[in-house]
Amino acid sequence: MENKKAFTQDLLMWYDDNARELPWRSHPTPYHVWVSEIMLQQTRVEAVKAYYQRFLKRFPSMASLALANDDELYKQWEGLGYYNRVRNMKKCAQICVEKYNGTLPATYDELLRLPGIGTYTAGAIASIAYKEVVAAVDGNVLRVFSRLLMSEDDVLKEATKKKFQSIIYEYIPSDRPDAFNQALMEIGALVCVPNAIPRCNICPLMKHCQGYKDGKAQSLPIKKAKKMRKVEKKTILICVYDKQVRLQKRASTGLLADMYEFPSLQGFYTKKQLHEKFPKAFKIKKLSRSKHLFTHIEWQMEGYMIEMGDADMSGLVNYQEMQDCYAVPSAFKEYKDALYEYWGK
Ligand code: SF4
Repeated sequence: MENKKAFTQDLLMWYDDNARELPWRSHPTPYHVWVSEIMLQQTRVEAVKAYYQRFLKRFPSMASLALANDDELYKQWEGLGYYNRVRNMKKCAQICVEKYNGTLPATYDELLRLPGIGTYTAGAIASIAYKEVVAAVDGNVLRVFSRLLMSEDDVLKEATKKKFQSIIYEYIPSDRPDAFNQALMEIGALVCVPNAIPRCNICPLMKHCQGYKDGKAQSLPIKKAKKMRKVEKKTILICVYDKQVRLQKRASTGLLADMYEFPSLQGFYTKKQLHEKFPKAFKIKKLSRSKHLFTHIEWQMEGYMIEMGDADMSGLVNYQEMQDCYAVPSAFKEYKDALYEYWGK
């Protein structure tokens, strides 16, 4: 792109007319921008809206978040997944209360030193809340710029991200870094979309776009295959007794740390094997298979609803307690739904 000024002008004019009204845009304090940006990682805007409002109602400030009870915090996050995000948010809030008077520090470099804040989030907070001239480059922006520049660099590589950060920096207007970064995100969400044909015919950047000119936009960005995930097979046991179900807490470190789950067995079991394992169960019903992908692990699951013959089980909770107190990660959604159906909820 030769004419940087014209590019930026076209982008901002389009943004001024087309920006969506989103709850976190109306009053972009550092706290609001941070909460929304962390929630938006790996999660769709539509899904985040309700979580965002509810979270701010319960934790309206850095100080309230720093004092949050873990179980309650995870319950607020239930369904969003990637729980490390909210664990880091609490750690970050405690640091901000201790060192920065209950707010986020005002520079990109300081933000980057906080837990859970990477280059993209630091760029977003610094530019949107503090108007610092710095890029905020996430997967959406990488896709848009790969197409604009006809770049065949692998966007999964850190080096590509760094390269694009410094290229994009050259385009950011000093008076509106907040609008510029949000405009790029908005183009990525509404026009230069992922997993579909980019909507070049309505794109304000069409005349600047090399990918469009060469007819290659759709084949970009380049993502080289990631390492295969390790597969773990599990049998999930929904052990019910008198309108209650057994839940257990996961270990306090590692995957889904401190969350609640249904008990499980490693590997797949047949109904017959489970009857041998639970001789007092009077009914065992097979549920559907399901799968959940984590960054490096894939869970393949088979579930069974086991009606226990006696109450000899620890960790029994009822429907209301599950609703109010225990965060069960979305990896178990299939089985949670089956349980609610069984309970008639
Ligand atoms: Fe994306 Fe097409 Fe716009 Fe280029 S012209 S930025 S490929 S939507």
